[in-house]
Amino acid sequence: MHHNFLFDLDQTLLDFHASEYKALGIVLNENGLSFSDEIYRAFIAYNKSLWLELEKGTISRTELFTRRFRDVFSRCEGDSSGLDPLKVNDAFIRTMSVNGVLMDGALAFVRRLKDNIPDARIYIASNGATVNAKGRLASTGLDRYTDGVFISEEMGVTKPDAAFFERILEQIGEPGSSCIMIGDSLTSDMLGAKNASLDSVWFMPSGNIGEAMAAYDINYCASSFEELYEILREWSAG
Ligand SMILES: [Mg+2]
Repeated sequence: MHHNFLFDLDQTLLDFHASEYKALGIVLNENGLSFSDEIYRAFIAYNKSLWLELEKGTISRTELFTRRFRDVFSRCEGDSSGLDPLKVNDAFIRTMSVNGVLMDGALAFVRRLKDNIPDARIYIASNGATVNAKGRLASTGLDRYTDGVFISEEMGVTKPDAAFFERILEQIGEPGSSCIMIGDSLTSDMLGAKNASLDSVWFMPSGNIGEAMAAYDINYCASSFEELYEILREWSAG
């Protein structure tokens, strides 16, 4: 049996927002448009409201992609009259998928786990799009330290569904007692671990921590990679 560490990807090992920021800047500049922090903030806010509408079923994915770039165009300096928002959206997604950004210290942390904890196995357990997640992993070099990547889009189930974790256990052929889930999200990572009866570490906790730990049966909290390393080392030895 190994020590199986199941890591969430975004805002745990990779910085999704930093990739998004980078890709938006590249794509707008390539199309002769200006980019600024203000434009990025407006994009994020509008994008979020569109995703809520998509979840409610009031708009389609195509409408979401079109509208978010039409809105960005209206905020940029430069001529966007000949630009197709959907094409720019495609370029944005492609650009993002080759521009992964590591959370500060993530690579050294993962290397340290591999080097110092005997039988450590590192798996990625992420909700999201396969191309985007795998591309960003590869572009940071983090993929060289992972023993497997599990993405909800490929698996057809998402966190916090217990089935998401059951499939992982099936594929790696190890029991739940050998696994610990590490992630920043209460509603996907911590609830998922609870649903699947796995140990869990809440990474970068915030808000009412004690209350959340009780509600989600969280075993540990870590506010830095240093703390996380110590927790995982002790958990593996126990
Ligand atoms: Mg996350």
